[in-house]
Amino acid sequence: MSVSEESTAVTHPFLDLAPLTAARFASVEDRVARLLRTEQDVVIMQGEALLPLEGAIRATAGPGTTALNVITGPYGQTFGNWLRDCGATVIDLAVPFHTAVTAEQIRESFAEHPEIDFVSLVHAEAATGNTNPVAEIGEVVRERGALFYLDAVASVGAEPVLPDAWGVDLCVIGAQKAMGGPAGVSAVSVSARAWARMAANPRAPRRSYLSLLDWKERWLDGGRTALPHAPAQLEMLALEACVERIEADGLDAVTARHRRAASATRAGARALGGGLEPYVYEDRDAAPVATTLRAPSGVVASELVARALESDPAAPLAAGGGALAKEMIRVNHYGVDATRGAVRASLSALGAALAAKGLHVDVEGALRAAEEAWR
Ligand SMILES: *Cc1c(COP(=O)(O)O)cnc(C)c1O
Repeated sequence: MSVSEESTAVTHPFLDLAPLTAARFASVEDRVARLLRTEQDVVIMQGEALLPLEGAIRATAGPGTTALNVITGPYGQTFGNWLRDCGATVIDLAVPFHTAVTAEQIRESFAEHPEIDFVSLVHAEAATGNTNPVAEIGEVVRERGALFYLDAVASVGAEPVLPDAWGVDLCVIGAQKAMGGPAGVSAVSVSARAWARMAANPRAPRRSYLSLLDWKERWLDGGRTALPHAPAQLEMLALEACVERIEADGLDAVTARHRRAASATRAGARALGGGLEPYVYEDRDAAPVATTLRAPSGVVASELVARALESDPAAPLAAGGGALAKEMIRVNHYGVDATRGAVRASLSALGAALAAKGLHVDVEGALRAAEEAWR
């Protein structure tokens, strides 16, 4: 028996990729920088967004840090845990998930604790459906000279994200929400102040997968000519494709679609009746990336969602995570689902599920209200 020298395998788009060059890697970073309109260094750590989110905290926080950690959903809780693990003193500012934090609340926290030198904030939370006024908060943080860390994973592509204009020192984005990409690609923009904080932090990870300083020393400072290790081609190509598609559509058009989807979902849910209502009370606090709804009293949200998905498995619906599964319905109208069609499908499926529970709903009215709000 002889072994064939030729492979008989068919070519596959994910396999047999040519190595990604340093120049290509740098060009993807530059494209992400343009998307964020930033002059800061953009580092692509080639992992799911949790990698730069954790790496940035471990690099900049230590026992000498006093952090104001704003909690408007589950991610804020995670950041507080990392900060405490780094030895930082953490002041948690928790606001109810149906609202947003205000710049005034941040100002009050600084007045009470003038030693705060680090602020962590989630811009928009897909998990709770709220968005925070980062521009106004940034003004307060800058006045006080604290380092400003922002999780913009759920907001990028759905609403403006402007680290330079807002004075954000560490701005983390991920591709899996409004950018319409896969999970596994993310990036962080880093200000000069943030680099200085890391350089002065003896506990900042070094020679570690979590290390931002490694990327600075081994990649940025060398003029981005040699990569420290083999780049993850699939992830980098996906991120490049993702940014390319946003550039082709126009970032403003992409954010407008998300904003419209959110307005249409909120208007539709209100008109649907059956006791369903927006989870986030005020329109200005509602995230363009995803809309959360409150299940009618006596109805378990996860059961309602399961029933709605039986009538339309393509509707981008999910129940809230953890304890929120009882009361919260998420309409994940982001990425390819930031469309009229996805909003209509979600409202129709929820209407069918509520009607099956014997509740009175007006699906036609809901679709009309959604259509008007979309325009
Ligand atoms: C989705 C999201 C992330 C990324 O986390 P995953 O759970 O891995 O998707 C981070 N931060 C926020 C605010 C998000 O909405």
